Amino acid sequence: MENNDVYKDPERLIQELEKTKSQFYIFYELTQAMRTTLRLDEIAYIILTGLTAHQGLGFNRAILFLIDEIKKVIKGFMGLGPMDIEEANKIWGLIEEQKMDLYALIEAYRRIKEGEIQPKLMQFTRSLEFPLKESSGLIYEALYEAVPVYIKNHLADQYKNDPLIHRLNLKDFIIAPLWSKNNPMGIIIVDNYITKKPITDEDLRILTMFINQASGAIENSKTYEDTLMRAHTDTLTSLWNYGYFQYKLDEEIMKARSDNRKISVLMVDIDNFKKFNDTFGHQAGDEALKNIATNIQRSARKIDIACRYGGEEFSFILPDTSKEEATTIAERMRTTISNTAIMNYTFTISIGVASFPEDAQNKEELIRKSDWALYKAKNEGKNKVVTIQ
Ligand code: GH3
Ligand code: MG
Ligand code: MG
Repeated sequence: MENNDVYKDPERLIQELEKTKSQFYIFYELTQAMRTTLRLDEIAYIILTGLTAHQGLGFNRAILFLIDEIKKVIKGFMGLGPMDIEEANKIWGLIEEQKMDLYALIEAYRRIKEGEIQPKLMQFTRSLEFPLKESSGLIYEALYEAVPVYIKNHLADQYKNDPLIHRLNLKDFIIAPLWSKNNPMGIIIVDNYITKKPITDEDLRILTMFINQASGAIENSKTYEDTLMRAHTDTLTSLWNYGYFQYKLDEEIMKARSDNRKISVLMVDIDNFKKFNDTFGHQAGDEALKNIATNIQRSARKIDIACRYGGEEFSFILPDTSKEEATTIAERMRTTISNTAIMNYTFTISIGVASFPEDAQNKEELIRKSDWALYKAKNEGKNKVVTIQ
């Protein structure tokens, strides 16, 4: 309906005003919500909730891709919305039944993180990855658009062989670039995949405003995560520190839950380190600690996250790694250290190994179990790897 027609029909006018009013309210609420956290995953979830929630913009699906500058790819980060009609009915039925408002929906993220809910689109999105090249088609082109672009049905045909359209089965959708100052950061895609409800100019207008806010929030969050990274390096060994270990393990467990993958943790402690300190002094002890850290890290893999847990203890997060593989890696660390002369001295280490989800359902339990295995290795005579059975 044209604007003019709306003015001739008071009832319709009131309806339109009510709708605009509630959209602005939601907009305000979302902006507030985005200020409650700086974690990238939580910010992303709030943004996507705003795009898909019934009281929000109400799209069926919203999918966020982020650029990975190091790997030179644009990668699926998070997706909200059903994969098919069956799942749509289930999700929307649940929302209706539980009378979930925006805050309740955002709160539901905790349950996704803890693995109680496993949305299919969330998992699927993470499997999508496109090289940052022209051959990636639309997703690459759209990165350099200044504003969101509405791809109407008939236009989509022109992109028939486009990898993104093909993977997501897109027909009528908006693709919006996210900018940080002068650089693109990622892409958001929204559509009405299930209901096939046409996208209106009004939708596009509100989405454009919303995307500006969202870009700012994502940029802040990325800056925060970069700072976090710098603040989380241990100055003596250059490994990650305790705080980062906790933070990262939390995140890795969340990913492992949604992708149905394993994680292993190694707890490493230098044997009889006090003796070395007492004999050669604290400074020599520091030097040795640094050397040992480097050597242990070298016998881990690139994907493993090496941390100084505290004092002469180290912890390793081994993503996507079974207990058997983790035990092999731990054994390699142990033999490397016992076979390497460090400052003309032979050190040995003891290691405890535990895995998610086999031995533990959450972070605390996983740490506790690997710590317990380490304790057992010490008790059984040191220079030893013990894996939770
Ligand atoms: P165990 O085999 O049971 O692990 O014996 P240990 O001597 O290694 O363990 P204990 O916990 O009794 O002592 C750890 C020692 O590590 C005590 C402390 O002096 C030393 N240590 C911890 N952090 C540092 C550090 O940053 N620099 C130096 N030089 N020594 C440290
Ligand atoms: Mg020790
Ligand atoms: Mg110790």
